[in-house]
Amino acid sequence: MSGGALGLDPDELVSCVACGLCLPHCPTYRVTGLELASPRGRIAAMRAVDLDGAPVDASFVAAMDACIQCRGCEAACPSGVPFGRLMEGTRAALAAPGAPARARRPPVRRAAEAVAYRWVLTRRRVLRGATWVLWALQRLRLVPARAGVPALRATDLRRPLDLAAPGTGDAYLVTGCVMDAWQRSVHRATVAVMRAAGATPMHPGPGDDCCGALHVHAGRTATAQRLARAVIASMPGDAPVVVDSAGCGAAMRDYGHLLGTPGAVAFSARVVDLAEWLTTRPPLALRDTGRTVVVQDPCHLRHVQRAHLPVRTVLAPAYRLLETADDGLCCGAGGAFAVWEPELAGAVRDRKVAAIRAVGGPAPVVASANPGCLLHLRAAGLDVRHPAELLADALAPEGR
Ligand code: SF4
Ligand code: SF4
Repeated sequence: MSGGALGLDPDELVSCVACGLCLPHCPTYRVTGLELASPRGRIAAMRAVDLDGAPVDASFVAAMDACIQCRGCEAACPSGVPFGRLMEGTRAALAAPGAPARARRPPVRRAAEAVAYRWVLTRRRVLRGATWVLWALQRLRLVPARAGVPALRATDLRRPLDLAAPGTGDAYLVTGCVMDAWQRSVHRATVAVMRAAGATPMHPGPGDDCCGALHVHAGRTATAQRLARAVIASMPGDAPVVVDSAGCGAAMRDYGHLLGTPGAVAFSARVVDLAEWLTTRPPLALRDTGRTVVVQDPCHLRHVQRAHLPVRTVLAPAYRLLETADDGLCCGAGGAFAVWEPELAGAVRDRKVAAIRAVGGPAPVVASANPGCLLHLRAAGLDVRHPAELLADALAPEGR
């Protein structure tokens, strides 16, 4: 049952007993120390608006926008408060046509969001075209290859992935939007690893342009639903749907909730993170590289999919793995969060970088299974590799 202005479920809203046990797991609270930047404070604010009729004012919008949607609080909550759902519902209400919150965001942000969410992310051809423009600007040194956009290579952009046609392989590989455009080398490593695991990876049919994860984060539910339907239609049958981006995997595993149909529920059950899928296959023939790697758990793998352990299982034969002592605290990337909240994202990242260096030394190699985390941490000067790349390296003959 829906409540007031935000349309949230009142039972879910009042399930928070304000115990505060989630606070140490909230990166924005850890950085600011502010109650309104904590899960408990945000839920109280949602409650005030939705159940008590408080206005949607600038401080409410800022508190919601400053949430990374990492869901560290949800994983830590002993009362089972579905914080992710509450925040997604709030974002959807704030992004709805005519919502007062829209007008409170700077015009530049509103325009950029409209272009990105409506025209670029949802259409692979447009995104590829924009990526070529970015590549040219990088070559002309008009755009630096850092923060947010990696150094693009023409050979990578030109060369398609070596994947079987839909319906002719063992498992689909989801290529997605930004990752395929900007980090296709990670997909290439994933293909090599899937083949080494004895499988024939295949590409989805038309319609897999974007999984809609960023749209869900931004509260653009209708677009996310349209994208989800197209993604489901692009991968018929019952083959596993392998994902090498933790954020995309988390969104696709939630299609059942997003669309509320039996078909979507069945599709979500087929979605599997690459490392998780590898643990269902015969072990890879890996050489022991003798190298040390610090494991960074993307929040959407650890807190949302709760599937962060298999990456350790598959990397362990080839690398000495080190753990950070921060209990999986977010790195600050959060989809587009680092773009819109750069100061807070940077402060959260500083803590993560310190935690990584505390165990890995001044120049650690870091494993991260999410493109957003990978780029965000690389922008801080860390050598971050996707687990697929590390595995592909360990498959290579000695000395290559
Ligand atoms: S969200 Fe959960 S852990 Fe956090 S204050 Fe509410 S009940 Fe406690
Ligand atoms: S989702 Fe993350 S940033 Fe948002 S309140 Fe929960 S722990 Fe804090």
